[in-house]
Amino acid sequence: MSRILIVEDERKIARFLELELQHEGYEVDTAGDGRTGLEKALSWKPDLMILDLMLPELSGIEVCRRLRHESDLPIIMLTAKDDVSDKVMGLDMGADDYMTKPFAIEELLARIRVGLKKHRATAAPASSVITAGKLALDPAKYAVTMDGQPIALTKKEFDLLKYLMEHRGQAVTRDALLSDVWGYDYAGDTNVVDVYIRYLRHKIDEPYGLKTIHTIRAVGYMFSYE
Ligand code: CA
Repeated sequence: MSRILIVEDERKIARFLELELQHEGYEVDTAGDGRTGLEKALSWKPDLMILDLMLPELSGIEVCRRLRHESDLPIIMLTAKDDVSDKVMGLDMGADDYMTKPFAIEELLARIRVGLKKHRATAAPASSVITAGKLALDPAKYAVTMDGQPIALTKKEFDLLKYLMEHRGQAVTRDALLSDVWGYDYAGDTNVVDVYIRYLRHKIDEPYGLKTIHTIRAVGYMFSYE
């Protein structure tokens, strides 16, 4: 039975979600503030977390950021506002998905199923370390090193680099990156890919005088390590 943690300070919403999820057969726990939510996420070890953005004690963004240092637990963020910067910030901090309140419970349930399935799919095989020159990426440990020195990446940066390294020497389109790395439709907005490519270059290439992530004009990007 999958465990779901609900972190939401609005009691009515938390209770409603708890009942709906229990009805679906999930084991459910709740937390009413960010600090308790973070503690429960680490101690109770849920399979997925539903995380409200506006929380007392610690904001949802902060919970996400801290949790990502220790766990790749799937996170579905709840946001009260239809605010793009909040969503981008949440996704940036490692949330996997988001829903804007008010939402239809059926849609949330569908996204929970997707989140759980994706997590199982990525967690299942202990994939081996991918290397390119001095760069090494370990999917099992979520770790990247350059010449043995760790490089801190966010979850999305990690996923993006992993995808690029797995497709080494192949041009990959922005659309392919969006659907395979982000996993859902950004309503055609591929700018987020360019933004993350910039982050990656800043961490992987620039400090080491390397050029591993190449822009392929009118197509997308390609990873190669000469
Ligand atoms: Ca709230």
